[in-house]
Formats: sequence, C-alpha cells, structure tokens
Amino acid sequence: MNKPWQDKLRQIEPYVPGEQPKVADIVKLNANENPYPPSPRVMEILHKFDAARLRKYPDANAGCLRTALAKYFGLEGSQIFMGNGSDDVLALCFQAFFCSEKPIFFPDLTYSFYPVWCSLFRVPYETIPLDENYRIHPSDYVRENGGVVLPNPNAPTGIGEGLDFIRQMLDANPDAVVIIDEAYIDFGGISAVPLLKEYENLVIVQTMSKSRSLAGLRVGYALASPALIATLEAVKNSYNSYTMDMVTLEAAAAAVEDDTYFQQTCSKIIETRTRTTETLRKLGFTVLDSQANFVLASHPVMAAKAIFEALKAQGVFVRYFSLPRVDNHLRITIGTDAEMDKLFAALQKIL
Ligand SMILES: *Cc1c(COP(=O)(O)O)cnc(C)c1O
Repeated sequence: MNKPWQDKLRQIEPYVPGEQPKVADIVKLNANENPYPPSPRVMEILHKFDAARLRKYPDANAGCLRTALAKYFGLEGSQIFMGNGSDDVLALCFQAFFCSEKPIFFPDLTYSFYPVWCSLFRVPYETIPLDENYRIHPSDYVRENGGVVLPNPNAPTGIGEGLDFIRQMLDANPDAVVIIDEAYIDFGGISAVPLLKEYENLVIVQTMSKSRSLAGLRVGYALASPALIATLEAVKNSYNSYTMDMVTLEAAAAAVEDDTYFQQTCSKIIETRTRTTETLRKLGFTVLDSQANFVLASHPVMAAKAIFEALKAQGVFVRYFSLPRVDNHLRITIGTDAEMDKLFAALQKIL
C-alpha cells in the first residue's frame, strides 16, 4: 500500500545508460565512447587552469565555445546553443519545440531516450516503424504532427542518410520543428548543416562525447535559426542559467580548434570499423553497414543475449537491448585495433 504522499510522487521509467564497470582490464565496447584520448590541447587547458577562478560564475553566454563553434561551422553565434551534453540540449529542445497537442514522430527503433523525455515532459508521440532493412522513409512522416526527431546516422542501426533524405523530411514538415540528432555524424555521415540556410525549422544537435572523446566533460550543442536558438535560450534561462562550467567551456573550445587531431582520430575509427565489419562477417555475423562508431550485428545460430553474457564473462562489454526487433542483436562500439582483436578472439572461443 502506498502512503498518501507517495501518490504525489512522479512515476517514471528512466533511460538506462550502458554499464560503467569498475574493474580494470576490461574491453569496454558498450557505450560508444571514443577509444582515443581527447586532443592534447584539452590536456593543456586542464593542466594550466587556475582553480582560484572558480569562485566566479562562468560566462552564461558560453562566449569562447560559441566563437570556436561559429568559426568551425561558418555560422553566426546567434545560431548556436550549448549545453551540458547533448542529452541536456535535446531535453531542452523537447521542452522548447514540442509544445503542441499533436504527437511528435520518431522511428520505432532509435535513441531510447526520446520516449523517456516525452513521458517526463508529457509530450504525446507516435513511433513510425523502420522498414525490413532498418531504413527510415520520409514519406511515412508526411501526416500532421507536433514535430519530428531522428538521429542521422540512426542508432542503434548505424545507418546514415544523405541530404536528399533530410530535405524530403523537411519539405514534408514545414509546419513543425524537425530535429536531426547528429551524435555520430563525424564518422562518415553527411551533415545537414548546409540546409540551415534554407530551413528555419531545422535543428541539428551534435555532441562532443563521441567524435571528440569528451563524454566525461559533458558538452553538446544545437545549430539552428536565430529564432529557434532564442527560444532554447529562453527555456534554459527559465531553468538554469549556468548549465556549462568554466573549465568545460575552455576545454571544449580547445578541442574544436584542434581540427588535425580530430580528423586523425575519426579516420582511424572509420578504418577500424571497416576491419571490424569484415571480421565479424567472416565469423558468421550479419552486420549492418554503419556510418557511426559502432556496428549492429546478429548471429544466425547463437542468440545475442548468450553471446553478450559469454563476452562479459571474458571481460568484453558490448551492448544488448531487450527491445522488440533488436533483441537478437549486439551493438558493438569501435575501439582501438587491439581492443577489437580481443573481441574477435573472445568470439572465436564462444562460437
Ligand atoms: C550518445 C548520444 C546522445 C547523447 O550524448 P551526450 O553524451 O549526452 O552528449 C544523444 N543522441 C544519441 C543518438 C546518442 O547516441
């Protein structure tokens, strides 16, 4: 029996992130983290940082990071919004842009945080099934809705779509905000940034957690028209003016400025992804062609859950989702070549 005060509490089913095991010597391929350290320039900022500066509030306008991102993307500062990881930015986008009574649309197989925000913020939604090849069709998104959100490349499939696809999605939805979550775009996807010039209702969300090796720092940002960015700023400033701390702003700006290092680590991951896809296929797996820093694989004989458990017993952590349509698949993050070799060796033993 609930006590009366318990009936007044929020009932909610939260998002469950990938495990962060505390043991050393494991191969961690379960959270799409980058296996390489962040840019040496980030280390330099952290080493030199004078802790005495922390007695003051950070720049609520995120000036240094705004300038670095504006330069990188060739956008105005008024087209950029920054937050405490892209989960923070997306949560603010849901509150700022999805305020209609009509349901928002997203794919049935996608980032599993979207339905959680819908329930937290009481946004009605409808999921639209991917086709049998795990593809999204803009023609399925033509009906009236309260907004659209989807990752490109999609997660957990890793399948990326081109600019024509994004354009079709935007042309089908001129009366609502369309959010493209580009968490994995730097691993060979095609960014919708050039379309910002044409579509005032387009929001692109990116993160520094994956391609810039800064998951622990928590930095994400949205790129959109000044009207949408101003709405996001207003919502954020009605909630918490200082979502980003001083250290993070400076370290993140340094990461954006080091393009050479960024290009090198992204290329390396793409190279290892090609090798991983080929090797898994040789081991008998069916592997979707990925444009992200992970692959989605299934085995025709051994159940994904059993492989997941057996890998874990050998210290190799991958991601298993007990969700319809993917519950016989494993999502495997691309690590270093040495880490992937350990995965292949473990799989050879198991299968
Ligand atoms: C990882 C991920 C995010 C969130 O990343 P942050 O670490 O919060 O920046 C958002 N969307 C998708 C699809 C992701 O995979």
